Amino acid sequence: MLSVVTDYLTEALGHVEEDRSGSLAGYIPELAAADPHCLGAAFAMVDGTVYGAGDVDTAFTIQSISKPFVYALALADRGFEEVLAKVGVEPSGEAFNQISLEPGSGRPLNPMINAGAITAHSLVGSHDLDAAERTRRVIAGLSAFAGRPLSVDESVCSSEMAHAHRNLAIAHMLRSYGILDDDPRAVVDGYIRQCSVLVTARDLAIMAATLADHGLNPLSGERVVSESVIRQVLSVMATCGMYDAAGDWATQVGIPAKSGVAGGLIGALPGQVGIATFSPRLDAHGNSVRGVALFEQFSGDMGLHVMSVP
Ligand code: GLN
Repeated sequence: MLSVVTDYLTEALGHVEEDRSGSLAGYIPELAAADPHCLGAAFAMVDGTVYGAGDVDTAFTIQSISKPFVYALALADRGFEEVLAKVGVEPSGEAFNQISLEPGSGRPLNPMINAGAITAHSLVGSHDLDAAERTRRVIAGLSAFAGRPLSVDESVCSSEMAHAHRNLAIAHMLRSYGILDDDPRAVVDGYIRQCSVLVTARDLAIMAATLADHGLNPLSGERVVSESVIRQVLSVMATCGMYDAAGDWATQVGIPAKSGVAGGLIGALPGQVGIATFSPRLDAHGNSVRGVALFEQFSGDMGLHVMSVP
């Protein structure tokens, strides 16, 4: 079995290897220095078996792939009512960094765009945590999803913080509407540390498998969050995870997913498998070019589309 799946993954990587289109995320200087040739893919089954090919042990920053997990932590810590009062669940159809807030209330449309993710970060842990304690809780929670302690890439973190004008603008807007209660700069600082957590494609596959296994980490056996939280998170990933490419993704691939600007991409197929790919060059939506192509292959070859007849 091991070699059949690994051979399949190696072959799939071969089909996309020559594609040099897309470009590195330039707005975070440190990310523009990444090796654009990296390419890897991993499957983590809900029984804990992991298959991988290519650069599956290369570390890169999680970026927006942290968003569904941190949303899960906020729901677990504060409950649905409190979180829904501050972050909606409607697809925005806009880019990840759009300043798109619900007219009137100022509530971010969903937790997968930056406005909603910054808010979700602020809702992790109890009300009395200070910013540093909250960020530690976030990183401990991401580590529980991965089944091992994760650390922060300090140079990517400070590089992004030095250019965080847009996220700071979003946070100040949120503060002016009373969606954020805390100091906007401290929240953005914590959110950027969250985005700078180092992972490998293997880690991401396990994290996705924890979503696929309804909140149970298949490696550690730990229940990280409840089944009802996972249902909410997977639903939001399915509708909003790929930003303004969410509709294309839903029809072409049909797996709840989330991308990040360092080139990672995850998909979680409930009850079955967590999938992760890593390839840093991005398309116009900020999604990994070869990652999207790999997911299209996986979905087509194995009939993974959630709407297809089994
Ligand atoms: N840290 C990045 C940002 O906030 C994450 C964006 C992403 O991965 N799409 O801009």
